[in-house]
Amino acid sequence: MAIKNRDDYLQALKKMRPNIYKFGERIEDVTTHPATRRTVESHAIAYDGANDPNLQKMFTTTSMFTGEKIHRWNSMMQEEGHLISNMRLKRQNYRRTGTCTGGVCVGWNAQNVMWAVTHEIDEANGTNYQERLKKWILHAEENGLTVAGALTDAKGDRSLSPSKQTEPDTTLHIKEIREDGIIIRGVKAMICSTAAAQEVFLLPGSVYGEDDKNCALSCVVPRDIEGLTVVEATRPSDQREFNESGIQEVPDTGITQGWLLFDDVFVPNDRVFMCHEYQFTSKVITYFTANYRACIGACVAGQGDVMIGASILMARANGLSSKTFMSKLVDMSVNNQVTFGLGAGALAIGKKHPSGTWIADSLTAHTNKVMVATLPYEVKRLTQEIGGGIVETGCMPSSKDLDSPEYGEMLRKVMKAGSCSTEARVKAARLSEWLTLGGGIPGCMHGGGSPDGAKLVVRFTTPMEEYVDYARKIMNIEEEIQDPQKPLKK
Ligand SMILES: Cc1cc2nc3c(=O)[nH]c(=O)nc-3n(C[C@H](O)[C@H](O)[C@H](O)COP(=O)(O)OP(=O)(O)OC[C@H]3O[C@@H](n4cnc5c(N)ncnc54)[C@H](O)[C@@H]3O)c2cc1C
Repeated sequence: MAIKNRDDYLQALKKMRPNIYKFGERIEDVTTHPATRRTVESHAIAYDGANDPNLQKMFTTTSMFTGEKIHRWNSMMQEEGHLISNMRLKRQNYRRTGTCTGGVCVGWNAQNVMWAVTHEIDEANGTNYQERLKKWILHAEENGLTVAGALTDAKGDRSLSPSKQTEPDTTLHIKEIREDGIIIRGVKAMICSTAAAQEVFLLPGSVYGEDDKNCALSCVVPRDIEGLTVVEATRPSDQREFNESGIQEVPDTGITQGWLLFDDVFVPNDRVFMCHEYQFTSKVITYFTANYRACIGACVAGQGDVMIGASILMARANGLSSKTFMSKLVDMSVNNQVTFGLGAGALAIGKKHPSGTWIADSLTAHTNKVMVATLPYEVKRLTQEIGGGIVETGCMPSSKDLDSPEYGEMLRKVMKAGSCSTEARVKAARLSEWLTLGGGIPGCMHGGGSPDGAKLVVRFTTPMEEYVDYARKIMNIEEEIQDPQKPLKK
């Protein structure tokens, strides 16, 4: 039975080899450790969705290969509607967790993008990558897997390509090709939800030329594969996550970003989907970023929805009517809908790749990434403005102090403002802080790539000269008006 429930998922994670570290400690059980259990909970909620009669249409679908009911995040996205369903699922996940669930997102996009790229490589080179990928997708569908996706490398000096770096491990690369598989080494960085994932889908992090063909690699590995060590990054709410007594100061949900250290990891051939074909790395990046940057509009919209909710709670907890802030709340909603709508629009005007994969319209998707790196910060600003100083970081005493036998009572007494309890006000304030400054931030700026990278695509996909022609023709300007020639350097 392909549909798994929360318990199946948690049990599967518990069986994995412990290879995740934080603060120098090895995490024996990711489902219970305070550093990882919140991201696991966020993903467990997606399994709840798949088993909830009211949500199951959103969280499940039918396999195009077997006709069986499967988790939506293991499915093939071959029509614009499939990708819009991806957006709806992500917005819903944010609404229920307040943050990112990358294990039911990035690997899903990767498998679909590689369906298109393996089709092209196989056609050009007579390889059988797509057949291998299909075998793995059937395995993922059958086991209802969570799959993190890793493109970003540690990179090293940003002005140099991988082969020019003094440290080759800054980029994941093929160290050796054997008859039965490949040995890979190097580091992928900032990979979300690795702790909650059962497998990791690896893609090249950039477009490479022949000198860097060792980095032209795509494969999928179990998260606990021998030779892989994951180091979880820290975040502002760490201390609160580890301190679990008193008033709850962080949600039960959350997100992690891992650094993945591959120390000579063997990957068998049937899990390898690109090996040296550097000519196709541009296709991976083009297709991946188009679909990802369209859909990410739903993530930030979903978090924005929660920010509206948290802001109303804060206004009321402060003793004010939400109507006092209605124009700000409406502005927040407008911003949320802009990224959601632009993403959906990019998908609606996308096109079908010959492999069947649906690819979003590039210009619109990359424009959306620029909006995603801009508008949510205004929503965060408004959340802080509405909530008051205790929402901004550094202005509210800890729950330990509120519980102090010496001065706690005095603090609690004066911190009550509106009709709700002090405890409810503290929780609402902590949520607003977490959503705007803390661990709940979903990577609006750099997640899915930096806005400057997106602007480059906007620049090259905007037909500027065609627009010059429109302008000329409207005013009957017959002559060409050229850019001035650059003066010759002396
Ligand atoms: C919350 C979060 C979650 C993430 N999750 C994932 C994930 O699940 N999987 C994954 O693969 N990645 C993930 N990432 C990583 C993300 O894709 C990268 O952060 C992003 O691609 C930018 O890379 P970087 O952080 O190395 O920034 P940098 O490359 O250091 O860029 C910093 C700035 O320099 C500019 N810049 C960089 N190089 C040049 C150059 N040569 N010339 C001019 N300007 C340059 C960039 O445009 C940017 O403005 C995540 C990131 C965040 C913040």
